[in-house]
Amino acid sequence: MQHFSADSLILRAVDRGDNDKLLTVLTADYGKFYAILKGAHSMRRREAAAAEAFTWSNVEYYERGGVKWIKSATSIESFPALRYDMEKLFLAAYFCEVAGELSDERQPAGEILPLTLNALHMLSTTKGEDARIKAAFEMRAACIGGFTPELVRCRDCGCPADRDGYLDVMNGAFVCRECLSKREALRPLPEVDELGERTVLCPLSPGSVAALRYVAEAHPKRIFAFRVTDARELNEFSRAAENYLLHHLERSFPSLENLKKLAALAKQRDAGVIRNP
Ligand SMILES: [Zn+2]
Repeated sequence: MQHFSADSLILRAVDRGDNDKLLTVLTADYGKFYAILKGAHSMRRREAAAAEAFTWSNVEYYERGGVKWIKSATSIESFPALRYDMEKLFLAAYFCEVAGELSDERQPAGEILPLTLNALHMLSTTKGEDARIKAAFEMRAACIGGFTPELVRCRDCGCPADRDGYLDVMNGAFVCRECLSKREALRPLPEVDELGERTVLCPLSPGSVAALRYVAEAHPKRIFAFRVTDARELNEFSRAAENYLLHHLERSFPSLENLKKLAALAKQRDAGVIRNP
């Protein structure tokens, strides 16, 4: 029987039978793996909390019969503010799903682990910044996944990317508005389809290109240290980052779908379609 301990981000925790839990964890040295927590529902409260999803914990494991089991867990950071806000909770789940997608078993986790921890920390300690944190996480995660876009110059004419243009998602590059008009004159582009296989173009203005570029190039500790003050630019930045990540990972994520349903409900409620009893 082999014992080891590791600081672990609990990406997911699901019930397994009546009293056990199956955890998906991410660790710096051993990457992503699965471990079983026995007697999860009869544990002391503090220890049970350390094995909850979106918690950063020091965990002692043992391996038996090719399966990893959890011997004990101590919470290092539980990001408490995430637990009381549905939107933040879905965002935390989304970050952890993306982190799991970009991690392998038996491979060190690399930069996706600190990025996810920083994103959870930001989410937990700020108000009204969720859209910016989400977009920064998405863009940087895409870069970690090997899809860093070219955002310094226009892909076609080489002019600086300091003007209105588009993020050509599938080609991973900025294209200025003039070049896009020229392309369209040569061969009409199919209409923009956010989830299809066709050309995906996200409109960008100078501020939103600058935000994407900042996030792609920033020192790992400075990724969230920027502002987008203009609402339109924040909207463009958000759309571009989400589209970019989802298209390159070629999938969506259940928690992101839940987040969108929640946003749609909030919108309906604000519009008075749903009335609170
Ligand atoms: Zn151009």
